[in-house]
Amino acid sequence: MSEKPMNKTRRSSLKLMLGGLAAIPVVAQVRVAHADEPVSETDPMAVALKYVADATKADRADKAGVAGADQFCHNCMQVKADSGEWRGCNLFPGKLVNENGWCSAWVKKA
Ligand code: SF4
Repeated sequence: MSEKPMNKTRRSSLKLMLGGLAAIPVVAQVRVAHADEPVSETDPMAVALKYVADATKADRADKAGVAGADQFCHNCMQVKADSGEWRGCNLFPGKLVNENGWCSAWVKKA
């Protein structure tokens, strides 16, 4: 390897490159935060499915032997995670639903 001292241009280029690498995690975090926003109840899909973040505000009819009052996102087949206040849902890609939410597509988790 060369023993020559780094010239000024090369040193500046290296600083720029390292600065750019340092910015990557920040950009990645911003993208993740944007992708994991809660579903808005005014989102057209949410309106169509009557999604609410608080299931007690929904008119939930009994389904497949499960009382309406016992239907929540946390016990729905479409919810992606087993824990957490906000979780992914197969019907709302890139968004989060409240564990105590509900929509008309609710199906009992196996
Ligand atoms: S499909 Fe299930 S988990 Fe998704 S919003 Fe509707 S009730 Fe909640």
